[in-house]
Amino acid sequence: MMTITYEYEGALYVNLTNRCDCACVFCLRHNGHKGSIYADDLWLEHEPTVDEALADFATRDLAVYREVVFCGFGEPIFRWDDIARVIDRLKAQGGLPPVRINTNGHADLILGRDIAPELAGRVDTVSVSLNGSTAEEYRAVTQPRDGEAAWEAMLDFTRRAARYVPKVVMTVVDKDKSPEELERCRALAQSLGATLRVRAYIPD
Ligand code: SF4
Repeated sequence: MMTITYEYEGALYVNLTNRCDCACVFCLRHNGHKGSIYADDLWLEHEPTVDEALADFATRDLAVYREVVFCGFGEPIFRWDDIARVIDRLKAQGGLPPVRINTNGHADLILGRDIAPELAGRVDTVSVSLNGSTAEEYRAVTQPRDGEAAWEAMLDFTRRAARYVPKVVMTVVDKDKSPEELERCRALAQSLGATLRVRAYIPD
């Protein structure tokens, strides 16, 4: 049994990939974790196909959830083309709650194109991991495969997403962050058209 969808605080979370181009210091995938506080085992035997994902959704009463959240135990944008197909099919069926995608904002690097226009009409909230107010801080925390280019790509993606999506949020984990650093993150998020959300660190 693979966990494709799971419930948390009234929302339905969707896990379609374990791939990621980062190695964040706080990532729950490190240190032998199999899951999170949200679900027991989020390592996938294989990446679910569109049909497998839809079959899982079909077992749920979507009307009861306040939000459907594509996140992963990994970076969901690796599966964006399939996520768009899933959203389109669910929207056609009717009754889909607001959709959020939690991303590291590296879509351009991962997919090699600008997907911001494709978010329009599909995604209601985009949540981008900011993780620091400078490229150095960002790289230290997220350890992205593409180094500084990942920082630039993330900022650029956020700015473009804000043109197509009603709500864009940026998140920062409060581990080792001073109030001044959090204020700089807030100002940066606002300059891109996003609002900052500070998340509590979940220790091992
Ligand atoms: S971007 Fe998300 S999945 Fe990837 S390493 Fe960071 S916390 Fe983990």
